[in-house]
Amino acid sequence: MVEVERHTYDVVVIGAGGAGLRAVIEARQRGLSVAVVCKSLFGKAHTVMAEGGCAAAMGNVASKDSWQVHFGDTMRGGKFLNNWRMVELHAKEAPDRVWELESYGALFDRTPDGRINQRNFGGHTYPRLAHVGDRTGLEIIRTMQQKIVSLQQEDHAQTGDYESRIKVFAECTITELLKDSSGAIAGAFGYWRESGRFVLFESPAVVMATGGIGKSYKVTSNSWEYTGDGHALALRAGANLINMEFIQFHPTGMVWPPSVKGILVTEGVRGDGGVLKNAEGKRFMFDYIPAVFKGQYAETEDEADQWLEDNDSARRTPDLLPRDEVARAINSEVKAGRDSPHGGVFLDIASRMPAEEIQRRLPSMHHQFKELADVDITKEMMEVGPTCHYVMGGIEVDPDTGSSCVPGLFAAGECSGGMHGSNRLGGNSLSDLLVFGRRAGLGASDYVQSLAQRPQVSPDDIAAAARIALAPFDPPDDPAAQENPYSLHMELQQSMHDLVGIIRHADEMERALVRLDEIRGRIHRVTVEGHRQFNPGWHLALDLRNMLLVCECVARSALMRTESRGGHTRDDHPDMVSAWRGTLLVCHLAGGDPVVPDVTVDAEPQQPMRPDLLALFEIEELQKYYTDDELAEHPGRKA
Ligand code: FAD
Repeated sequence: MVEVERHTYDVVVIGAGGAGLRAVIEARQRGLSVAVVCKSLFGKAHTVMAEGGCAAAMGNVASKDSWQVHFGDTMRGGKFLNNWRMVELHAKEAPDRVWELESYGALFDRTPDGRINQRNFGGHTYPRLAHVGDRTGLEIIRTMQQKIVSLQQEDHAQTGDYESRIKVFAECTITELLKDSSGAIAGAFGYWRESGRFVLFESPAVVMATGGIGKSYKVTSNSWEYTGDGHALALRAGANLINMEFIQFHPTGMVWPPSVKGILVTEGVRGDGGVLKNAEGKRFMFDYIPAVFKGQYAETEDEADQWLEDNDSARRTPDLLPRDEVARAINSEVKAGRDSPHGGVFLDIASRMPAEEIQRRLPSMHHQFKELADVDITKEMMEVGPTCHYVMGGIEVDPDTGSSCVPGLFAAGECSGGMHGSNRLGGNSLSDLLVFGRRAGLGASDYVQSLAQRPQVSPDDIAAAARIALAPFDPPDDPAAQENPYSLHMELQQSMHDLVGIIRHADEMERALVRLDEIRGRIHRVTVEGHRQFNPGWHLALDLRNMLLVCECVARSALMRTESRGGHTRDDHPDMVSAWRGTLLVCHLAGGDPVVPDVTVDAEPQQPMRPDLLALFEIEELQKYYTDDELAEHPGRKA
């Protein structure tokens, strides 16, 4: 009989980033007991790393901004593949969520007249990102943790126990979701990273808020936590993943020195006036304005610089095109041999504003380059290049409640899919976490309150979860057949980097699938030494199966989508194809091996956009994305 520590809660939130913490607050405010489980230290979630800001159409800097403009920008950024209902809720609710944070104690940067300041970012028509210097995520997490402490103090006053309604389980990794005989969520199984001891959370509702998948790629801005756990756990439990072919390669990661390759250089540098230059000193982005954005961006340096002074009298700089466009442009410059000494391009803020101003606006970037690359960004240009940054794909959810197709399973934040379509606009993640974290917390609470009885976890499922978790301690008899988790991880990352990266081709993706299949065969032989007490090799061995499953979803979906759109660019299918716009690629579990099950990908139609939302766009713009049949009912077409 396996030894397991047991806890019972109304709701278990897996992940303590922005999405998870906002869900915790909501569920607790509805009177439910909530466990929040995170595999890193509490407060060290990925959200802390967010730099540039949180997008919300508050209209503080540009009074013309509105939810409708934010809605339009987000749909354009995602190349109209987004779940329009999510985009609508996000655009309408983001300003309230930012205000709410201030009511919890956050303090955003201010305009001279005392309102929350907002900065420019790629793809946003108006300055829209509420920010705290370049440390916005830190302030958001700090504030929500403070709110949670204040709720715990209220609980203590009522019950005598600070943890009677919210308890944090830090450095605890969930490895399996458990369901009852009807197929509804009954709990989550995991282990304490420090002791290796098993832990079971019995709960009718789980909110998945585990973030992204970046550690499946070799060059990434993401930290060690981003191993696609939530994506894989949900898929194994029977949920669908959508849009997995769309991976955002942020245009500006550090390229030098090798030890820090991939670390993010915030888009705020360009938002505040920084410009991209090639080795010839040319501001090359003017050469890369794609047809769908023609007429919307400045065509000369003077016009772009004028726009920085006054958004109304000029068009925006192409340095702030959506990220997919800028990443491809940098890729092309490097391929053409106009790259910087270490294989990137230059990002120049030094010649654009006084040193004190740079230090005031971008303190983290100044510190990061000084410490890591010995570059003073107030005097020299930075060297930057694309880095795997964000996954647009994730768990398919109901926009209003965050529920998946598995009863009791909810998702929010980066591990959910739909909101950002084929490409996310910068700043739209932090607001997504707040809007949909709250909605998932509400959805889970309503679900739990509607249940007549609680689902039961079966002892067999607990035993099976423990067996799978311990398998890496059980080596194959032949020592030569043993696999090292670190080597296998590097092979996986290299394969994804080389064969399913920023520019894709059918031959390469087919080769990727062969390699993934081969890794799938070897993953059963992954062997770790030592015991269960803090054993990073074991932790990686368990994360590896999640990364492999997620990589299969990415590679299979990418091979199937025979067009280029947003974060999916194909050499062999370079055009965006209208017929693909209305199609979602949906990854389903197809049974097989319980460690890394088979995946099938099906093409399914998108819900057509509600007519009043469609009418927000000019027919001439929609014609670039939609088929004629889809536009037959548009008022512009009828006129
Ligand atoms: P996270 O904040 O990553 O939290 C995930 C949580 O899940 C963690 O607590 C982790 O420990 C836990 N977890 C994962 N797996 C398990 C498991 N198996 N068991 C238990 N716990 C688990 N977006 C913007 O909008 N604006 C920005 O300025 C911005 N800047 C960014 C800068 C950087 C460097 C990076 C990398 C991203 C940036 N982003 C930005 C994107 C944004 O930060 C993320 O998309 C967002 O923070 C994700 O939040 P989340 O709540 O979904 O997940």
